[in-house]
Amino acid sequence: MLRTHTCGELRIDHVGRQVTLCGWVQRQRDKGGVVWVDLRDRYGITQLIFEEGVTEASLIEKAKSIGREYVIKATGEVVERYAKNDNMPTGDIEISVSALAFLNGSQIPPFTIEDETDGGETLRMKYRYLDIRRKPIREKLELRHLMMQKVREYLNSEQFIEVETPYLIKSTPEGARDFVVPSRMNKNEFYALPQSPQTFKQLLMVGGIDRYFQIVKCFRDEDLRADRQPEFTQIDCEMSFVEQEDILQTFERMTKFLYKEIKGIDLEVFQRISYDEAMRKYGSDKPDLRFGMAFVELNEEVQGRGFMVFDSAELVVGINAEGCAGYTRKQLDVLTDFVKKPQIRAKGLVYVKCNADGTFKSSVDKFFGQDALKGWAEKFGAKPGDLLLILAGETNQTRKALSELRLEIGSRLGLRDEHKIAAVWVLDFPLLEWDEETERYHAMHHPFTSPKPEDIEKLKSAPGAVRANAYDMVINGVEAGGGSIRIHDRELQAEMFDILGFSREEAEAQFGFLMNAFEYGAPPHGGIAFGFDRLCAIMAGEQNIRDFIAFPKNNSGRDVMINSPAKISEEQLNELGIKRVELNGL
Ligand code: ASP
Repeated sequence: MLRTHTCGELRIDHVGRQVTLCGWVQRQRDKGGVVWVDLRDRYGITQLIFEEGVTEASLIEKAKSIGREYVIKATGEVVERYAKNDNMPTGDIEISVSALAFLNGSQIPPFTIEDETDGGETLRMKYRYLDIRRKPIREKLELRHLMMQKVREYLNSEQFIEVETPYLIKSTPEGARDFVVPSRMNKNEFYALPQSPQTFKQLLMVGGIDRYFQIVKCFRDEDLRADRQPEFTQIDCEMSFVEQEDILQTFERMTKFLYKEIKGIDLEVFQRISYDEAMRKYGSDKPDLRFGMAFVELNEEVQGRGFMVFDSAELVVGINAEGCAGYTRKQLDVLTDFVKKPQIRAKGLVYVKCNADGTFKSSVDKFFGQDALKGWAEKFGAKPGDLLLILAGETNQTRKALSELRLEIGSRLGLRDEHKIAAVWVLDFPLLEWDEETERYHAMHHPFTSPKPEDIEKLKSAPGAVRANAYDMVINGVEAGGGSIRIHDRELQAEMFDILGFSREEAEAQFGFLMNAFEYGAPPHGGIAFGFDRLCAIMAGEQNIRDFIAFPKNNSGRDVMINSPAKISEEQLNELGIKRVELNGL
């Protein structure tokens, strides 16, 4: 090794030792007679000192010529510092340098490589290798590494084996668009990159593997958001001879193990809530249960009193923002504007202030007297000082809008504390979802999810009412993972494809391999997959998954560092039998 120690390990006990360190120059401070250099590597920062009367004059000159991010090797003696720095682990010592070698120079970096940087996101992405030198990014990659180790440790201890499944496959219908890869040897035919290893893991169960997992890349060609990437990583798992409860227990234990090992936190038993209840009480299938503020429905109390907005609404529903009766006109306007945003689309917001003196002031005083408002407040369990916020309209949309408002108020009131962890299983999802556009049922989870046995008889008569053996794990309002008990019977699987609008032939062509496998002794099985990048972000209490990925893509799905996607050569196209289409002269 070129070095004897790292830049993070020397302490007061090392004083007097001769050491050699290698690293990058974070900063150089030239005070005339003394030059200090902060030398950085993965492990930390150590200060080097070049001092008149102690250090050879030529070395001091050399130190003065060092630029930011030069890679250097410095040998010297560990000495105690005069002015110690309690903020850094190596802050008691410095290295009095006696030999210095430049291993490589560096251009002036395009942004400062320190904990706080002046680099904007695009610049940081373009020079991601420089961004990775910064501690906040490096720590996120270290957390990710630790998570991977711990996931493997846990699953291995539970007899899961890691099996790799192919990346060049054929479409898996998980609801998103596929990335496709042309085949040179089979002209006009394409592979698809897996949206998940769903069918393969089920085939592994038919193969008797019993407990499978894989930390695996998945690919979905969807519109991107802060918590989505076109390629992302899943902890993908499947088990045989299980019921839903076994999966919930196994993976609740895994999540607790991760929190304990990584954060030293003991999680409580996970809450459980049905999909229906989650929608009714929180307007979301991923409710943030760090705080209450459950919805209260008011149709009975408010309809038929001559206020058109309420009378014409399918649902009138509100939340109690505790202690917010003092909100000013302006603050209420801000909330009204918030719910009217195009993403939220509420028409307006009704408020009721529960005044300290027991009276009420509302935006609908013209239609509702004190007695009526008092009745509402009772239904909310509101106290003097509270503020009721009410929306009205079509059921699903109104619930969605109120859910956004609930989260907004939760944030404003500091109820979404990142140190608090509320983990919940959302259960009993509907099996099917009606799609207005295609006028067809879609599988809410995927077509391999089994209906609840007691609901199977409704498959033909009332498909929309059939519940699935499906579950999501939600942590602090973020979907960490989801899965289901699968269909393992050929006939039922065929019926499912039929309900989803596949003809027999289409189903056979696309999924014949799976249905055939079910004829050779498929065991009952089920599984789950976690969004690994997201789970890392949740564990760190952050929203954006990008910094937990070494080389992420931007919002347009581009890698701005390597500049991809990119055109390919005429030769490559010819070999693939693909004709280039000129778009608007591009
Ligand atoms: N394949 C599913 C997904 O990617 C997870 C599962 O059902 O196990 O969401």
